[in-house]
Amino acid sequence: MRDRCFHGHVLHAGNRYVTRDGRVRCRACHATEQARYRRRLRAKRTAAATAVAAANKRARTTCTRGHDFTDINTYWTPDGKRRCRRCHADRVQYYRLFGPRYEQWERALFEKEMPCTF
Ligand SMILES: [Zn+2]
Ligand SMILES: [Zn+2]
Repeated sequence: MRDRCFHGHVLHAGNRYVTRDGRVRCRACHATEQARYRRRLRAKRTAAATAVAAANKRARTTCTRGHDFTDINTYWTPDGKRRCRRCHADRVQYYRLFGPRYEQWERALFEKEMPCTF
């Protein structure tokens, strides 16, 4: 009988089991396979959740601040993301008025979950 598995684990009594068709299998390898399988499953689930979130986002008809995503108001970034032109214009204008401080201020507002619509 082999004393090591294909991957070099020692097949001592605690690390081997016999399948129904009589083959000796390595528990260490089995655990690795299980981990790999679970990892793949988790990755698949995460991808699915991301797809659902993206679909929900696309289904929205307004931006975070409630501007309508009309053809005229929507800007598509080269990587396929949707941006609100009104928000962008506001941001540019307020940045011009207040400078970098504006960004801090806006971030603070968003953290408090009360996006100001100006
Ligand atoms: Zn093994
Ligand atoms: Zn907007």
